[in-house]
Formats: sequence, structure tokens, C-alpha cells
Amino acid sequence: MQHVQGLKCLVCGKLHHPEAVDYVCPDHGDEGVLDVIYDYDVINRQFNKEYLLLSNDFSIWRYRPLLPVDPRIAVPGLSIGWTPLYPAQRLSADLGLKNVYVKDDGRQPTASFKDRASAIAVVKAKEKGARIITTASTGNAAAALSGLCASMQQANVIFVPETTPQAKIAQLLVFGSHVFLVKGSYDDAFELCLQATREYGWYNRNSGFNPYMTEGKKTAAYEICEQMEWQAPDCIFVSVGDGSIIGGLHKGLKDLQALGWIDKMPRLMGVQASGSSYLYAAWKNSEDILTKKPIQAHTVADSISAGLPRDRIKALAAVTETAGAFICVADNDILAAIPELARCTGVFAEPAGAAAYAGLLKAVDQQLVSGNETIVVLNTGNGLKDVAGAMQAVELVGTQPFRVDPDIKALQQFVDNW
Ligand SMILES: *Cc1c(COP(=O)(O)O)cnc(C)c1O
Ligand SMILES: [Zn+2]
Repeated sequence: MQHVQGLKCLVCGKLHHPEAVDYVCPDHGDEGVLDVIYDYDVINRQFNKEYLLLSNDFSIWRYRPLLPVDPRIAVPGLSIGWTPLYPAQRLSADLGLKNVYVKDDGRQPTASFKDRASAIAVVKAKEKGARIITTASTGNAAAALSGLCASMQQANVIFVPETTPQAKIAQLLVFGSHVFLVKGSYDDAFELCLQATREYGWYNRNSGFNPYMTEGKKTAAYEICEQMEWQAPDCIFVSVGDGSIIGGLHKGLKDLQALGWIDKMPRLMGVQASGSSYLYAAWKNSEDILTKKPIQAHTVADSISAGLPRDRIKALAAVTETAGAFICVADNDILAAIPELARCTGVFAEPAGAAAYAGLLKAVDQQLVSGNETIVVLNTGNGLKDVAGAMQAVELVGTQPFRVDPDIKALQQFVDNW
């Protein structure tokens, strides 16, 4: 691959040959997260915005010359990416803002943002001739890998915490993965998966470990900018667990800047749950993320529950280098944001998806955004992923169904009271 120069360690800066290293810097263990480095001159010679105008591929593969995959390997048939970006007028008006947009990645084939990364994982695994792919996940990355593997007839082994919401476990079982429910946290599942990778030589998709996952996630930034006709927004709100999505958005925006396709870097706003706020705390207190100890994570937003964010180096850089911010929101605010976002836009988010919107509300409150800025809120997961969470949310805001006898007179009593 001519356009990939190497894999750069974010701890020591060493550039590794892509064929020499699969995951992390050999000199820095699991901390030595790698970044894929491109030759933008090579890319610019083969690819430009006009080429995209002519493309009828409405998936992440429309950006294939910007992705670290061998063009000879077939990509999955499932349609990944090019999710809608909705102008949210009513929501904007309610908040005293002018231009809020919602990008809905709940519309991916397995109903979360994670499909973008898993699509790259299955192609890399084919490239490397892997027999089995594995991942640890809070649920969505697993479901995404599971679905993509099913579409490619690829064997896979999944590790998720036993507390993972039912819908996500159902997806894994329906797609026919080998599923291990780990009696412990996501962090425990992650460690077990790493050990299995070393022991059995499986191909590993873990976020913040496999450097190519960022490259799948960055496609959302390309889409946002292309959908806005290459006028980059002023800020993007996204929820943060491992920090891999926000790192991916940053990477995508840096690519577009390097290519000269956008002339402004949006501020990246990372939203964490108050019970899983490792990165918020590190950012606020200027702590060293290479030595800061893991925390005990606990939040209703299971997808952003991470005691030790695996992609913390990229996540922190995403916020600091774009003059963005981390924002911390309470579980009740996350839950309340589910029906509020849904009622303003028709987009039904799982708790971690709605957290991004809860973060925007807090940012308005703290005057971190101003009225005429263009703001994108990224919904990362579909509300049907966590029905128990949704039911808790409507209960919290006092919405109930009415139980009625199948009789028009019984109904009339309710109607009379309105
Ligand atoms: C994984 C996930 C996130 C957080 O992404 P990180 O890369 O872990 O920060 C947010 N929302 C949903 C729905 C997710 O599945
Ligand atoms: Zn290193």
C-alpha cells in the first residue's frame, strides 16, 4: 500500500513498518498505541473531491483511497456508513442555537457506530489470512464484529461483560459468534481477550489496541464534512468511553486538513458519564494519562463504561489539539436526554448515544458554545439496543402508557380529562 508510510508509536514516535507490527509498539507494550501515517501527496494524486461527486458508492468505501486496506481484498457486502445528517431545527430553537445537526449512526447495519471499525477489522483479517477474529467489547463493537463476520463467513470469538444488555447479546448469538460472557467488567474482558490473542494467535479487533480501528471510525468525520459541502462544523459532540471514536473523528479531520479539503478544525467535545469520567478528570486536572490509575467505572450508559480508556492518548489529543473540551454528565441527565432528543428529532438513541446530546445541553449551560455556531451531535447507538435503559428514561420523565378496557366508553373517560 503505497499511501501508507507506517505505524507511528504515540509514546516514542518511532515509525514501524506496517508489516512488522500488528497492534502496539513493541517497545511500549499496550500503552504504545500506533497511528497510521499516510503519504498525502500519493493520495492527492489519485483522489479528490470531484472524484467523490461522481461516486455512487454511498458507504465508507467511497473513501477507500484514504483507508489502510489492500485494494485487492473484497470488502463486506453489508452497507456501512453514509448515515444521515439531520438538521435539527426544533432542537436548535429550544436551545437558542441556530444550526444543530444530528448524525444518526444508530442506522448502521448492527445499529451502532462500531460497524465503521469492524468493517476495517474484517478486511485486515482477510489481508493477514487470520482464521479467527476476536474482540472484547461493552457490546456494540462485539455486535458489529459479529454481524460483519457473518456477512463474510468469518469465524470469531467474542468477550463481553455478563452485564451487557440483552439486545446486544442477542445480536451476537443470532449472528452465530462464539460468545463468552465474562464474569467481570469490560476491562476484565479486554485483558482476557488480549491474553487469548497472544495464546492462540487470533486476529484482535480491540479498540485502542488495533491501530486500524481509528481508521474506520474516521470515516464519520469525512461524511460530516462532505454532507456539509466541505464547510466543517464549529464543534462536534460525541460520547467517550475508550476514546476511540473521538480519536477517529480527529484523525479524519486531520486527514481532510492535510489534503486541503477543509480549512477549519472543529472543536471536539468529548462527553463522559460522571461514573466513568477518567478522561474528563485527567483533562481537567492535567493528569498524566500514562501513569494515572484505572477507575471503577459504573454508568447506565454501558457503551461508555471504561475504567481505563484504551485509546486515551488519541482521545486527549483530540480534545486538546482542537481546543475542545471534555464534559461530564450525570446518569439521570443521560436518561432524560433519550426522550428529549427523540421528541425533538425522531432519533431514538441508546444511553451512550443520548449522552452526546446531554453534553450539548451542559455546554449551552456553561457557555461553551455560542448561538450561531454550527454544531453536530453524533448519535452513536440505536435506542433499541437497550430497552431497559429506555424504559427507565421514560419513567424518569413521567411518561406512562394508559391501560384501557377495549371499550369506547372507557376511552372516553381519558379523553374527557384532557
Ligand atoms: C463504543 C461506543 C461509544 C464510545 O466510543 P469509544 O470509542 O469507546 O469512546 C459511544 N457510544 C456508543 C453507542 C458506543 O457503542
Ligand atoms: Zn514506542
